[in-house]
Amino acid sequence: MKKIGILTSGGDAPGMNAAIRAVTRTALKNGMTVMGVRRGYNGLINGDMVALEIRSVSDIIQRGGTILYTARCDEFRFEEGLQKAKATCIREGIEGLVVIGGDGSFRGAGDLSARGIPCIALPGTIDNDIAMTDYTIGYDTAMNTAMALIDKLRDTTQSHDRCSVVEVMGRHAGHIAVNTGIACGATHIIAEEVPFTVDDVIERIQSTQTTGKHHFIIVVSEGIGNSQEIAKKIEQATGVESRATILGHVQRGGAPTVRDRVVASHMGHYAVELLVNGYSNRVVGMRNGNMVDFDIKEALAMKKSFENDLYRIAMDISF
Ligand code: ADP
Repeated sequence: MKKIGILTSGGDAPGMNAAIRAVTRTALKNGMTVMGVRRGYNGLINGDMVALEIRSVSDIIQRGGTILYTARCDEFRFEEGLQKAKATCIREGIEGLVVIGGDGSFRGAGDLSARGIPCIALPGTIDNDIAMTDYTIGYDTAMNTAMALIDKLRDTTQSHDRCSVVEVMGRHAGHIAVNTGIACGATHIIAEEVPFTVDDVIERIQSTQTTGKHHFIIVVSEGIGNSQEIAKKIEQATGVESRATILGHVQRGGAPTVRDRVVASHMGHYAVELLVNGYSNRVVGMRNGNMVDFDIKEALAMKKSFENDLYRIAMDISF
């Protein structure tokens, strides 16, 4: 294989740059040329790409976001778009592609692999909602950002004897919620994976009040939403002034943590080795600290488990 492409697709995640750097440098070391494709699959369709040299990826390992930009691309979901992308690859001499993104991006990589362009996908999403891997690029940074923000919020919540209902990201997955909830000592954690009623939350607040607690952090996962409504109900039932805070996209930015940089570097290196060894249509992941890879379709069919034990522990110790 003489020339490969790399792109970032779907939602951005801190550590994507570290993966771009690792892929580029590993490929160059293997004597390949590397094309950085801009704005996800759009760049493949439009031929928007730039050659990446050793120094093109200098000074990016510490930066959030993605130097290749990212985007969603509806055209790529259809045969015409896929054929345009394939034609670009053939015209540019791109014989393999590394795609960094979430499960939507994996579907695209599977479709393109099936049309003769070998693709390797890396899990890049803050949500950690990919079943075949314990860990996705960006997850650790997002959790640390959320934790730091909730700590700040706690200072003012405590000073005013308030209740803060904090909404963290994660789409339909509660991994960020349960981990930041336990790390910030949240009184209650509300995630889609665990059935709940607002009355349960109110009851828990009231029972902690009897032991002298007078400020409360309630972490709510993005998929639940309704933070304002939950805060209102808590205030009405308990008389504790309650405010909702939606942390939002700030969780997607910032310098990646050690963990995200190391995992992204490891996965990027592994992805190029797969291409060099003739593999296609694989997703790279990390299980029990080891790199693994799965067929894209198989990976997409897997179901992610939830940290029920961690949730139970959080409920046991934060009251
Ligand atoms: P993520 O990769 O973060 O899950 P999306 O679900 O938005 O984000 O997917 C990113 C892009 O991947 C889409 O804009 C589209 O270009 C491509 N994609 C998603 N689903 C499919 C599909 N079923 N077939 C082909 N391409 C897809």
